[in-house]
Amino acid sequence: MALKIWLGNKLVDEQDAKISVFDHGLLYGDGVFEGIRVYNKRVFELEAHIDRLYDSAKGIRLDIPMSRQHLIDAVHKTVEANNIGNGYIRLIITRGVGSLGLNPFTCETPAIVIIADNIQLYPEELYEKGMKIISATTVRNHPLAIPPQIKSMNYLNNILAKIEALDYEVPEAIMYNHEGFVAEATGDNVFTVRKGVVYTPPAEAGGLEGITREIVIRIAKKEGFEVVEKNLTRFDLYISDEVFLTGTAAEVIGIVEIDGRVIGDGRPGPVTRRFREKFFRYAHGKEK
Ligand code: PMP
Repeated sequence: MALKIWLGNKLVDEQDAKISVFDHGLLYGDGVFEGIRVYNKRVFELEAHIDRLYDSAKGIRLDIPMSRQHLIDAVHKTVEANNIGNGYIRLIITRGVGSLGLNPFTCETPAIVIIADNIQLYPEELYEKGMKIISATTVRNHPLAIPPQIKSMNYLNNILAKIEALDYEVPEAIMYNHEGFVAEATGDNVFTVRKGVVYTPPAEAGGLEGITREIVIRIAKKEGFEVVEKNLTRFDLYISDEVFLTGTAAEVIGIVEIDGRVIGDGRPGPVTRRFREKFFRYAHGKEK
């Protein structure tokens, strides 16, 4: 079935949802975006995603030409128009149409695009068995170059690491920062569990401040775990009892091997499983 896409200030048919070749989103990856889930017809953590979108936009000096409330309404209208019960929303703000040069101030109106569709998830089997991953040699963007908190349309840094993962026939790769500490995975945040304590790199390590990460930290504390935000090395990952990733698409997924080192007993551990279950219940509105 053809989708209805939000473009600018209205819904249009999928075949009419077109962006100019002069849009700086295409020419330079100049723009910001969010990926958001819909669970049981509820848009999950929409406020948090909208906050991050406006922060990202501020970071690149892009004025979103729509109020927060109007944008929230547009997201809901797009979800309803496509009758999405469980799915995924891609909310994109490009710099807009401008001249061929870099100058973003030649672009008059940022384009607003909202796509609501079904999502291609990791197969359930992967959650049961856990994921094997590798360390990428591609270093995560230096925060003084492109702050990783900005969720920009330019994902080449992550894509280069993703290619490394795919070359090794695994779905994900850990990205390290310029100092060698874990930053994040190509599209997810990283957690470890060792001796009953939960660890995750601090925001300063250079990862995106994930919304799923925040929720999992909250769940972990509620479950009585100590959560420590601390720099982690490659070796710290290898010797962890459990490693798991968090993200809007992946939710909570256990890691069972990194660079040929088996993590724990080679299966997703009890803490990972518990957090996945708790996250599921929270996302589906079954638990606060
Ligand atoms: N890091 C990167 C690079 C990402 O693209 C994502 C997914 N948006 C995440 C982490 C996880 O963030 P969230 O939980 O907000 O989806």
